[in-house]
Amino acid sequence: MTRLLLIGPPGAGKGTQAALLAQRFSIPAISTGDIFRFNVKNQTPLGVEAKGYMDRGEYVPDSLTNALVRDRLSHEDAQKGFLLDGYPRTSDQTEELDDILRENNTKLDIVVQLTADTNELVRRLAHRAQVEGRADDTPEVIRHRLDVYEEQTAPLIDIYASRGLVAMIDGLGEIEDVTARIIESIEARGLHPDA
Ligand code: AMP
Repeated sequence: MTRLLLIGPPGAGKGTQAALLAQRFSIPAISTGDIFRFNVKNQTPLGVEAKGYMDRGEYVPDSLTNALVRDRLSHEDAQKGFLLDGYPRTSDQTEELDDILRENNTKLDIVVQLTADTNELVRRLAHRAQVEGRADDTPEVIRHRLDVYEEQTAPLIDIYASRGLVAMIDGLGEIEDVTARIIESIEARGLHPDA
């Protein structure tokens, strides 16, 4: 049973690593960004509401995001562990996640902080803009998303660090090398893929 969070700025490689780790640990990767994009694409009421915030590089309101995650974590496949990619991103979301876990008598095992310097992040996001054509990967929106991350999300790392949960991982280098670093730090805590 592994319950982990991936925290890091946009472009740090969270989505890529989340998919690889989820497979390795046989747990669902829950990406709030992916869920929002799916809803935007399908023009659901949630998608219609979230789109404007996403296009501007702002966070979708906590009330919507918390409800979405609370629902997703109640699904059967998340009872044996999960990987949250891109949640929590605000202090309100951190409190909500604490509440959800407390209600389920569970707790987080590890918070993986993926780091990369700003120039590298901007380079990667510009590249992704060309490849994927995401509406929120334009230069102005990228800059804004990095600022919002620094302001609202980076401080959460201190909260989790004070609980002894943070493993800081260098997100630079080959994808498989970064994955190996993460797995090493997870296993160093006595957590194993088939535990
Ligand atoms: P991501 O793919 O994780 O970079 O997320 C893309 C966009 O979805 C973000 O810029 C936000 O607009 C929205 N989003 C994703 N996760 C959250 C969250 N936890 N809280 C608020 N907004 C979010």
